[in-house]
Amino acid sequence: MPTAQQQMEGRALRRRLCWLAYLTLAVQVLAALPAQAADPGAAASPWLTATNVQPEPPVAQSKNANRPSPRAPAARGETFARGADLGGDARRTRFIIDLSQPVPHQVFTLADPYRVIIDLPSVKFQLPQGLGASGQGLVKAFRYGLFAPGKSRIVIDTAGPVLIERAQIVDPRTGAPVRLLVDLTPTDRATFLARQRPVVQQARQPALNPPLRQDALACGRGADGRPARPVIVIDPGHGGVDNGAIGISHVVEKDIVLSVARRLRDALTATGRYQVLMTREEDVFVPLDDRVEFSQRTASCLFISIHADSAGIFTHRVRGATVYTLSETASDEEARQLADKENSSDLIAGLPLPRKSQDEVKSILTDLLQRENDVRTRFFIGDLTEGLRKTIALTPQPHREARFRVLQQVHAPAVLVELGFLTNRTDETLLKSADWQARAAGALAAAIDTYFSKSKQQARHPFYQAGR
Ligand code: ZN
Repeated sequence: MPTAQQQMEGRALRRRLCWLAYLTLAVQVLAALPAQAADPGAAASPWLTATNVQPEPPVAQSKNANRPSPRAPAARGETFARGADLGGDARRTRFIIDLSQPVPHQVFTLADPYRVIIDLPSVKFQLPQGLGASGQGLVKAFRYGLFAPGKSRIVIDTAGPVLIERAQIVDPRTGAPVRLLVDLTPTDRATFLARQRPVVQQARQPALNPPLRQDALACGRGADGRPARPVIVIDPGHGGVDNGAIGISHVVEKDIVLSVARRLRDALTATGRYQVLMTREEDVFVPLDDRVEFSQRTASCLFISIHADSAGIFTHRVRGATVYTLSETASDEEARQLADKENSSDLIAGLPLPRKSQDEVKSILTDLLQRENDVRTRFFIGDLTEGLRKTIALTPQPHREARFRVLQQVHAPAVLVELGFLTNRTDETLLKSADWQARAAGALAAAIDTYFSKSKQQARHPFYQAGR
């Protein structure tokens, strides 16, 4: 029989063992809780619109449940995004992006159209092609890309006014990706506008390379006023967060036009007769007005913007290239709609408002210089359409006019070439092929060369007036 003393000691030992078991269980439960429940990043961003940060609600029916998980460590200094997803429904929609390391972020909204913007430092997006083309819940679509050197942006198009209920980086559990969550809930327009914070657009690093010539005088003159090789500015459309048109196979316009533009630059440079500059040389967004300014400040003799078109589902048979020039009145309804689409690049990339007013556009079009430039442009259009016709398919009406913002310049002929339709199977196959791209670039270069050789004969540029 145990003594009273032994019984007391036994009870004390059992109590201590019980406490130990409770403590072990509590530690296991805490360790098993989702990392988000600790709410580690509630104060991570000064841009949080939300005040009622809540524990993570269940995300219903993820559309892309098997997205890849970025477990590989990021290269030093570089951040990768290897997964993005949407969850929830029209009452609460969650946008998720998986990052290789925590980064500072700004999340804010823009109206007309309703958008949620996520600004991040430079991120390498390694996401599946076509991701973001369709939406879920309150999100219609989303896109991502380089917005300016060193700065990436995600633009989320929403179906209506929304509130950012939560926007934060969630700390990873061991081995899991760092996750940026943005939770959106519906609201009315008045509340949306009242909650909007003034967007301080940080000064953009110039995306353009090489540096601009501030004191350029005119086509065919160098900064010192002496004759110089004519500057040709090639403008690959879209870039970065602005994909442009999307093809049947999810190929994006921004990639195709950059590839053709590089080939055209190489072909022109190889002649040794031109100084060739590009408004972008990589996959980065460049605002439309910056492209125009670049052309003006480099005193270009020719500005050629390169694009690829898309048509509606009922017009998928439409194919071929078209050359567009500037006009206050569009030559036809399709040209007007195309100009609207191309002019929306800044909105797509999440810039607030165009910097040029309609009055400014009108004054450009009635400028005396424009009349002189119109003559030069007509010469060039003739050479261009004839040159292209020999090599690539053209639309039945290969020269059209509309009010393209990127063509609003009077110092040099400015044209916008739509190389073909990414919504047409034949055109898309050709546009993607290296062989076709090389032929198209060769045809463009030959047409440009024809125009300048005629200019030389007629001594239209100072460079040629000097007897070169
Ligand atoms: Zn375009």
